[in-house]
Amino acid sequence: MQKIVHRDGKSVRLNTENDERLYAGHLNTGPRQSRWIDFHAHRLKSAGKLNARCCKCGEDNLKPYGEDMQCGTCAQVQAKDNPRPEDYVFYLAHYSCWQGENTYIQEITLDEAREFAAENYEEIDYHLGLLDESKFE
Ligand SMILES: [Zn+2]
Repeated sequence: MQKIVHRDGKSVRLNTENDERLYAGHLNTGPRQSRWIDFHAHRLKSAGKLNARCCKCGEDNLKPYGEDMQCGTCAQVQAKDNPRPEDYVFYLAHYSCWQGENTYIQEITLDEAREFAAENYEEIDYHLGLLDESKFE
């Protein structure tokens, strides 16, 4: 399923085949076998490669540092896998097998994506930096 949306004046093509799926709502039993939601993240081209930017200063200047990466600009050491949710468009793909119901893509805001990730914390495969686990009480 594909859809064109607009972000900061640019056209963005969402594509459930290529975009990362963070949550798969389909189950083989119960109500979720005929109607379910998948949660996707589309990485913006303008964001560049994953792990290219420093989580502190945002500069594209990361170098290997043991198991981690270090920023050549501000010296921040960070994990290799350091996606910024701002670099993605998040959306829900609604599926239904019921007659008369459509399957469709619903673009959601960053705040809504954070809420969805929090609500479905246990089932989410990978939250792409949406939740800051270091701040959990
Ligand atoms: Zn930096």
